Amino acid sequence: MQVRDSSTDRLVVAAAGQDATLYVCGITPYDATHLGHAATYVAFDVLGRAWRDAGHRVRYASNVTDVDDPLLERATATGVDWRDLAAEQTALYAEDMTALAVIPPDVYSGVVEVIPAVVAAVEVLLAAGAAYRVPTPDALVDDGLGDVYADLTADIDFGAVAGLDDDTMRTLSHERGGDPDRPGKRAPLDPLLWRRERAGEPAWDGGSLGRGRPGWHIECAVIARDALGLPFDVEGGGSDLQFPHHEMSTSHARLLDEGRGARVHLHTGMVGLDGHKMSKSRGNLVLVSRLREEGVDPMAVRAAILAHRYRDDWDWTDESLRSAQERIEFWRRAVSGNGGPDAESTLAGVRAALADDLDTPTALALIDDWSHLSLAGTADPVEGAPGVISRTLDALLGIRL
Ligand code: ZN
Repeated sequence: MQVRDSSTDRLVVAAAGQDATLYVCGITPYDATHLGHAATYVAFDVLGRAWRDAGHRVRYASNVTDVDDPLLERATATGVDWRDLAAEQTALYAEDMTALAVIPPDVYSGVVEVIPAVVAAVEVLLAAGAAYRVPTPDALVDDGLGDVYADLTADIDFGAVAGLDDDTMRTLSHERGGDPDRPGKRAPLDPLLWRRERAGEPAWDGGSLGRGRPGWHIECAVIARDALGLPFDVEGGGSDLQFPHHEMSTSHARLLDEGRGARVHLHTGMVGLDGHKMSKSRGNLVLVSRLREEGVDPMAVRAAILAHRYRDDWDWTDESLRSAQERIEFWRRAVSGNGGPDAESTLAGVRAALADDLDTPTALALIDDWSHLSLAGTADPVEGAPGVISRTLDALLGIRL
């Protein structure tokens, strides 16, 4: 099973040993679950299925960023308690994933569940000189402890995940939750590890750090380390997480554990809508829950996703859904008999396609080929062949006919 590492653009073996370990960054629970999220979790679900089929013991961990600025902002804007918003959206996400036949993670952790572990990790980084305090005159209690930031100069491998130049990193940091212009930092890119309590914001006991809440990247570093151990095989997520999120979380993990982080990074493409990037600000999010309400077969949604290579950017259109629905119907007709064309070579072909960097479009095309032959009628039908195709679709691609 080979995958193309986003950091090196080289094909690498996906799992180093018998145990295959995967961490996929979870949602921030507001506006769950749009097609971009769905495409990411379906892609890594197929990786897990291919690993299991190849005989690996799979351990999969994910998180839910249930305390974060965008969640708190949404809760304030809509007058909902942030805890209620997070719980409601996390439940909706779980329903969507069940409908899409995504096998749940072995470890699914909220940030609020790991705060003591994050505090301990930040204390380790401070003691090692890999983190520093920044004054917080606006904190609820300004006791001089300050917010804590990572000092990126402590990590000689910083930059290896995304391989970007300084200007690009600074721009992306600004766009994606960083604070490059915060006064008092040693360097613009240094990421927040611990934020002291501000008026109106949730906060937890932070031991020697003082009351506050964790930064985004350290959460994933700690959850992945504690769930999977370091190093682990694959860290995944949407391509907008490569920088800064995966660059920073991998850097934190390396400093916490003698240079060990994720072995391979895989990133899924962005899903647009009719030529535009799907975004909250544009208001063009296609939600899985809304499609389900409209009566759309979740298996057609899954087939529409898998018709694209996971790493490619693509557009969700009415046509992509319609052709996936037709495809599912076509397959259902093709497997309806007792016998059909021999399916063993199709199964082998699907396995080979997935082992080649999760080439799901080729896998689906092989099922199409078999289905055409089946519906054309075969002179020498093999009993049970349609069942092999149904089970191939179910077990390897997560599509139940
Ligand atoms: Zn993450």
